Amino acid sequence: MEKNLRLFALGKPLSKAAQIELEANSLLVDDDNIKQQYKEAIGKKSKKAKKVATIEEITAAVKREVRGENCLEGFEQGIGKVSASKLTTYRGCHFAYLLQYRLHLQPHVYFPQVVFGECFHYILEDFNTNRLITLDDLIFGKEVQVEEDGKLKKKKIKGWKGRWYGAANSRNIRFRSEKQLHILYNKGVGMLKDFFEKEQHNPKPAPEFVERKFDVMLDCRPYLNRYYRINGFFDKIDKKNEKVIITDYKTGHVGAVSSDLGLQLTLYWYAYNKWAAQNALYFPKQASPENIELVMYHLPTLEEKHATRDNIALKYLINEIHNADSDIKAKNFTPFIGSHCDTACFWQESCYELLMSNNKDLFNFLISQYTNMISEKSRTQ
Ligand code: SF4
Repeated sequence: MEKNLRLFALGKPLSKAAQIELEANSLLVDDDNIKQQYKEAIGKKSKKAKKVATIEEITAAVKREVRGENCLEGFEQGIGKVSASKLTTYRGCHFAYLLQYRLHLQPHVYFPQVVFGECFHYILEDFNTNRLITLDDLIFGKEVQVEEDGKLKKKKIKGWKGRWYGAANSRNIRFRSEKQLHILYNKGVGMLKDFFEKEQHNPKPAPEFVERKFDVMLDCRPYLNRYYRINGFFDKIDKKNEKVIITDYKTGHVGAVSSDLGLQLTLYWYAYNKWAAQNALYFPKQASPENIELVMYHLPTLEEKHATRDNIALKYLINEIHNADSDIKAKNFTPFIGSHCDTACFWQESCYELLMSNNKDLFNFLISQYTNMISEKSRTQ
């Protein structure tokens, strides 16, 4: 909704479909493929909030899925569309993947740092598209005037304060104490001040290169004779001379997941190449793969790590996707229990109740499934 204010701030109110059509037709290139991609990216309907399942419902769903009773109805068999977060979740804990991506459940609680990161990304998106311009805008938001039903109305583009407290009041976030809510708000303000200080004079990318969706086919040949569909969002794409710079913002600690980060950057690298090649009209001077630079921008420290990718990295990514896909098809949803359960998994409550209390049989079943799979693998190798 807020996105439309940018283009239609003073125009006659239009239906959502008409707005999308008009935006697509106002692109500089006359190419039906690009228009279609653009329409899909901006026209995606927001999903209705999902109901939080009870522990009994989760138990029933897990049993149906892992024991094969009617398990395939409505669900993909393998990994399906691959996103960086889907792959990271499966590599981190197969059982968390089952709950989140296979059964599409809603977690009971959220971790503050996850919501913090989501809210912060919204602010950066608005900054990079010039909807929020000054430091005050970033923190407190900005009022804009729009015409609705023939009347001028004031609307607010939320800043950090509105985003953070809005999310904190509407979601079940597990704060360590009431103070933590405000401590994190202040942390966000500090990060925005530093970020603004550093970035305020840097040129911004065109709006279509901010939070840009991609959805392309990963051609695995010659390593594997198949394709995987990969999708996700580029946080920001800049062009400098011959170079294309793809930036991914990170708000949290990144050391522990560095190999997953590496895979994520390879996924972006491949996706950009493919996307640009498919839209050659839009990219008359396409950057060669070695001129695509990937930047992991760590916001708490403002450190920027630059990387490039090549076909060796791509082969590794394909291998990891294929392994995950095969394991998911074999229904390997073994829980990976460790210290990360306490600190990084928002399924923790449901998971402990499911596996550790009245459903110990489910835990044993998952472990025996895993053991069988490993011995089957070593038998066939
Ligand atoms: S609590 Fe641990 S074992 Fe359970 S889903 Fe989360 S990461 Fe996996």
